[in-house]
Amino acid sequence: MFELQNILRENIKNLIPYSSARNEFNGEASVFLDANENSFGSPLTENYNRYPDPLQTAIKQKLSLIKGVPVKNIFLGNGSDEAIDILFRAFCRPGMDNVITVPPTYGMYEVSANINDVENRKVKLTAAFQLDMERIAETIDENTRIIFICSPNNPTGNSIDRNDIQTLLANFNGIVVVDEAYINYSRQKTFIQELTEFANLVVLQTLSKAWGLAGLRVGMAFASEEIIEVFNKVNAPYNISQASQQLVLRALENIDQVNEWIKQTVQERENLTLQLSLLDFVQNIYPSDANFLLVKTSDPVFIYQALVKQGIIVRNRSTVELCEGCLRITVGTPEENEILIHAMKSLNWR
Ligand SMILES: *Cc1c(COP(=O)(O)O)cnc(C)c1O
Repeated sequence: MFELQNILRENIKNLIPYSSARNEFNGEASVFLDANENSFGSPLTENYNRYPDPLQTAIKQKLSLIKGVPVKNIFLGNGSDEAIDILFRAFCRPGMDNVITVPPTYGMYEVSANINDVENRKVKLTAAFQLDMERIAETIDENTRIIFICSPNNPTGNSIDRNDIQTLLANFNGIVVVDEAYINYSRQKTFIQELTEFANLVVLQTLSKAWGLAGLRVGMAFASEEIIEVFNKVNAPYNISQASQQLVLRALENIDQVNEWIKQTVQERENLTLQLSLLDFVQNIYPSDANFLLVKTSDPVFIYQALVKQGIIVRNRSTVELCEGCLRITVGTPEENEILIHAMKSLNWR
């Protein structure tokens, strides 16, 4: 049985978190002399002289309506990457515990494991880019704390079989992270409605992709109230700046625009798939539930460099295991995609 207290590090269990001025008093008042801010103002037309809401309650209330998840089950981080790092710091004893990742996948899980001196046990995806459930089961031991699943997966673009993820959630006594950075482009259902069923589920989403706010650095974690409390204990106080909070609040009003872009991106993804499939150096275009395509070519380095010369940058993934020969191409605007296809057609003589 999953029991959060069994995997929480002792130092975090016993941690008395930093208590900020905004934590100790957050009611209505007219004279704030409790946080050593500059009471005169800031040298900007907008006032940034006050510390922001450490819990970003206004944003969470809006997200709660959009996502159908209670405020108490939401954590906001300085990108999803902050949430990933906090998971290591709260649940993995350095030099002792281990996590499982399933490459090829998002690189940050491994970097964060290395920074925190936590062993990363890699269980390769199958040739169909799905979980190797048998090998995962063999790899889990009593010190395995977290399994990271990215679905839709970066860089392969496919969704991971929902039944397999559910099997892990039901049987693994550690935390299962489902990173849904690209969920908005997928026809697959999100896992955030399953929080009440699985106490060991952490769903990551982000404002960096479909929401078009990569520059603001805001990621979301959805989990049980107990896990969110751990996040709030371990995170840096005031981790989301006032400027970011204000801009996110405004952006969340424009959900119609975002949904329109998602529709267009999916359309363009299909169009780009068709156009690329006509090129004779393209050997395979993997089905994608994300806003990028993994494209297997006969000469990835030549194509990559030829595109760079024309000012077009894609991601060369050809040295990644199971992605041999592959370029990862983000779906652009119709104009950008046309420029890409035109440039690639000019290489087609090879
Ligand atoms: C882009 C991406 C993220 C987003 O990270 P942020 O820190 O929120 O910008 C998270 N996970 C995956 C798999 C991604 O590709």
